[in-house]
Amino acid sequence: MKRLHMEIRGIVQGVGFRPFVHRLVTEYGLNGYIKNTSSGVELELEGERQALESFAAALPVRAPKLAVIEEIRPRYLEETVGYRGFAIRKSKTEAFRNTLISPDICICDDCLRELRDPGDRRYRYPFINCTNCGPRFTIVKDVPYDRARTSMGAFPMCPDCAREYHDIENRRYHAQPDCCPVCGPRVFLLDAAGEEQPGDPIETAKAWLKAGKILAVKGLGGMHLACRCDDPAVTARLRRNKQRDEKPFAIMCRDAETAKRICNVTPAEEAILSGFRRPIVLLKKREAGLTHLSENGFIGVMLPYTPLHALLFEDGIDMLVMTSANLSDTPIMYRNEEALEKLQGIAEGFLLHDRDIQTRCDDSLCWVLDGKEYPARRSRGYVPFPVRVEKGQSGILACGAEQKASFCLTKGNYVFPSQHIGDLKNLETLEHYERQIAHFQRLFDIRPELLVCDQHPDYMSTRYAQDRAEAEGLPLLQVQHHHAHMAACMADNDLDGPCIGLIWDGTGYGTDGTTWGGECLLGGYEGFERRGSIRPIPLIGGDRAVKELDRVAFALLRDAGCGVSAIRNAPLYETMLQAKLNCPLSSGMGRLFDGVAAILGIKTLASYEGQGAVLLEAAAAEDEDAYPVVLEGEPLRFDWRPMIRQIVSEKEQGVPTGILAARFMNTLIRMAADMAGQIARKTGVKDVVLSGGSFQNMYIMHRLPDKLREQGLRPWHHSRVSANDEGLSLGQAMIAARQMQKKDG
Ligand code: ZN
Ligand code: ZN
Ligand code: FE
Repeated sequence: MKRLHMEIRGIVQGVGFRPFVHRLVTEYGLNGYIKNTSSGVELELEGERQALESFAAALPVRAPKLAVIEEIRPRYLEETVGYRGFAIRKSKTEAFRNTLISPDICICDDCLRELRDPGDRRYRYPFINCTNCGPRFTIVKDVPYDRARTSMGAFPMCPDCAREYHDIENRRYHAQPDCCPVCGPRVFLLDAAGEEQPGDPIETAKAWLKAGKILAVKGLGGMHLACRCDDPAVTARLRRNKQRDEKPFAIMCRDAETAKRICNVTPAEEAILSGFRRPIVLLKKREAGLTHLSENGFIGVMLPYTPLHALLFEDGIDMLVMTSANLSDTPIMYRNEEALEKLQGIAEGFLLHDRDIQTRCDDSLCWVLDGKEYPARRSRGYVPFPVRVEKGQSGILACGAEQKASFCLTKGNYVFPSQHIGDLKNLETLEHYERQIAHFQRLFDIRPELLVCDQHPDYMSTRYAQDRAEAEGLPLLQVQHHHAHMAACMADNDLDGPCIGLIWDGTGYGTDGTTWGGECLLGGYEGFERRGSIRPIPLIGGDRAVKELDRVAFALLRDAGCGVSAIRNAPLYETMLQAKLNCPLSSGMGRLFDGVAAILGIKTLASYEGQGAVLLEAAAAEDEDAYPVVLEGEPLRFDWRPMIRQIVSEKEQGVPTGILAARFMNTLIRMAADMAGQIARKTGVKDVVLSGGSFQNMYIMHRLPDKLREQGLRPWHHSRVSANDEGLSLGQAMIAARQMQKKDG
């Protein structure tokens, strides 16, 4: 007989870990106890040495999907105690006993098997789920998490389901949303006029989709609009109906093999694509084309994640467009009545059900970089799970940015980032933001003691924070935009600083009141210095230059001393510039991309922010050359004028656009490496974090890290939150945490 003591650090509370250990202990015939601790769980077991070792080996392999095991410390103890049975011991430090709520999890293989088994009592039942899968966050109304406080409260369990629920040996033990055709929700199909259709709703829906209809389909966190993706006439109609002229559509494929027919899929991409979180993964197209789905080089692909999806992808349906049902920047629709009303004239049928969605949660979106998610949008499947950080601090509400809004609430070493919220300039979105802050506070029992927001005076999140700080008498910290990006990437990688931060984005409020966005910062959570930037660009007409890229092209060409006669409205722009009439300066990297995209003739009128950069990346050909990099001054400033002159002269010589696009990005990569290298040699700082929306460029992300390594630097990129403004609230929270800790000594 031996006695084994184990300490397990990580996120192992509130994820079904103790029932799992109970089952495993029973399986190996061991005795002992388990107890929650402040950093995880503590476990003590007695039994045969062989059984204990097998148990220890099986534990990390078979742990519940949501468990994040950071460290297991096993040690064998001298004497045995003579435990009988297995006990779940109460502890004083159960900070997260009832507070960790699972994200929504895609249908598991066991449920999928039952769904397709004619002998099973849930055969073809679109709401089948178990402890390992199903809706969670999106159906929770309140805590503690049990059925009565979810959408499933409206569906009392039948005796068969109740029996499974109470049986610890059963896969549905304590599965709150467990249900069956007898006791659970039902799916129904309505036509465009809202009339319920007779017959099997899923069979009819499939026939309608095949016939080219556009259907609203209720998912986990909101409605999708679904249609055939192989018929440009149908997708063109969807674009017209939805007034979504050029933004790419995401598609859902039956399985990874199907996705491989149109996209290159690496093993790492396949793993994340088919993992239980089921994000939309941005995959490289196999060949150019499919522009009716996406005009750039990537297609957003996800696999079916609900049983309803699984039932739709039958009978020759392999791929469907699955785009969020929302109208011009309003939040995704999630209520039946709302969809029926607002999707009039857009959807030609409605595949709905009567299980309410409590909380809207968009599909998550990511690339795969170095084998891990590189998030663009962290939402369904991830939220509301915390990001675990070192040196955390409770009671902080970080209010995020504006266009890609998010917030974070903190508790101990956990930071709880919100789901994707959207653009706060939209009133409905702002209401959603405020409601979600209240919801998160309640779910995780957090009362903010310190608010933190951006320095931009006009961000709606800044106003929210200011109003609330005043109303509740709370301290407010305003953090510079790019400093927050930098801190977010540091926290994402568990770095404590000092770091060099290459922070490139479209726009952020600088400490000098101008717009920044091509920055190289030095510092950490405590503060920063601006050590590098790019030559500022006048934005002719202010915000209009974000859409009308010709305006930026004009400014670049004129400043570089190149001809501007090819630009329409050149005389007007000249007048505005000379009169300094609404021409604010910006060092935003996004603007440099926009201007070059326009000079190269790739895009002159953008229908959404960042389109110029996305298309420029897609246009790039294979080429290793770069233009000379001129860095001067203190802080270092990249003078892009020689580069612009070269681009113009090579263009005149007939060098293809794709080559020029590549050389432009190669130049930026060289510039970034030179800039960071120079600062590193002066300061000895070697860690370089990459953050900001301009780093959502895979051409750069696949090349820049190596160039930084050549300079003897250590590059770091995001993998837990987004590099764009959505990830910024994490950085705000960490900066505030450090300040509170300093104050507390
Ligand atoms: Zn399941
Ligand atoms: Zn039932
Ligand atoms: Fe930003």
